Amino acid sequence: MYMKFDISEAFAKELDSFDTLNFEDRFFKARGIIYMDGNSLGLMPKSAETTLLSAVEDYKNLGIGGWTEARQPWFYCAEKLGARMAKIVGALEDEVVVTGSTTVNIHNLLSTFYKPSGKRTKLLMDELNFPSDIYAAQGHMRLLGRPTDDLALLKSRDGHTLDENDIIAAFNDDVALALLPSVLYRSGQLLDIERLTAKAHEKGIIIGFDCCHSAGSVPHRLHDWGVDFGVWCCYKYLNGGPGSSAAIFINRRHHGTRPGLPGWFGSDKSRQFDMALEFEPAANAGAWQMGTPHIFSMSPVEGSLNVFEEFGMDNVREKSLKLTSYMMSLIDSLLVDQHGFYIATPRQPERRGGHVALARDADSIRINACLKERGVIPDFRFPNIIRFAPIAFYNTYHEVWRVVDIIKDIMDSKEYLSLDEKRGPVA
Ligand SMILES: *Cc1c(COP(=O)(O)O)cnc(C)c1O
Repeated sequence: MYMKFDISEAFAKELDSFDTLNFEDRFFKARGIIYMDGNSLGLMPKSAETTLLSAVEDYKNLGIGGWTEARQPWFYCAEKLGARMAKIVGALEDEVVVTGSTTVNIHNLLSTFYKPSGKRTKLLMDELNFPSDIYAAQGHMRLLGRPTDDLALLKSRDGHTLDENDIIAAFNDDVALALLPSVLYRSGQLLDIERLTAKAHEKGIIIGFDCCHSAGSVPHRLHDWGVDFGVWCCYKYLNGGPGSSAAIFINRRHHGTRPGLPGWFGSDKSRQFDMALEFEPAANAGAWQMGTPHIFSMSPVEGSLNVFEEFGMDNVREKSLKLTSYMMSLIDSLLVDQHGFYIATPRQPERRGGHVALARDADSIRINACLKERGVIPDFRFPNIIRFAPIAFYNTYHEVWRVVDIIKDIMDSKEYLSLDEKRGPVA
């Protein structure tokens, strides 16, 4: 899909006028702000407020009775939402559970699937991965008393992307487990999950994906592709709210494997309250839960799923690709030659997720700060990337046009030179 776009404002408005997929009024969208940060924290769907408040009411009215009597009985909520979430990532209903946080879930899955033995001792990851994933892996190496080089971090050739052939070349007989991102959080590169999974399996390697930057933005077929396990958070493209419960995918072939970090909420539900001292895990992904589910962090996810189900994941992807293609074409026309920017995101639709990474050798921090002063919310990723995620549900083509126009104006007027190079505590 390559489209030629016109750079005029009128053209942006025309694109909006033909857009049948606009759910802006389903979200809380602040006036006067152009929100392009849905890849860090999605805006709140109005339906998520409804489901959150309904959980609060259930707590007020039912007390402990909420576990079985709530509108969405709390005891079954993690599995029920998991079954709905499964459709978004192409999994079977019992392969997904909503629980924990991404980092906690990574710890649990590493403790389950990273079993160095004999010649197979390495955990393969990459140097562009989100730091928390790496910290978790380093912690496991220490806990297991492994030599530090058992954690193999694949290198990037250009600092922004990974070459899938390099990854496949690293699938050697000494690798026990590979844990890779689906979409790289800085550049937005989308890896070929299906191909990597097939190649890993040819070499007898278990492979898991961190889908934080693809879940809710890119359709997946985790089950059909044979991925062993996956994790993702629900507060980015999935619009579940700050710190909302995350999700775990466990391929059916691993159901019955004992979770590395067990807890009573991973029990077979019919036996959990037997309070037996011998852990009897659930026969599905639910087994990877640990403690009591965080109901108020889960209930907004339910409201968000309503929006996804109505809009359709394929429509999300189709519109997202149009928005990002349009943005890249405006950047190419107005910011690259004139102002020294470049796009760090791969161009081909099948190789990118939902955001555009705008890079520049100098001054990115100050340009990002100017954007915020002008009411644009992007996010900055050290050292020089400004990310923009125009979201299918709630961003318009005109907003994309406005953002590029504002950047052009910041550069033409050189107003960024008056700011200092400080970075705030968040990004
Ligand atoms: C956002 C993100 C995380 C964050 O994990 P939390 O435990 O939710 O803070 C981890 N990994 C990746 C790849 C992410 O994009």
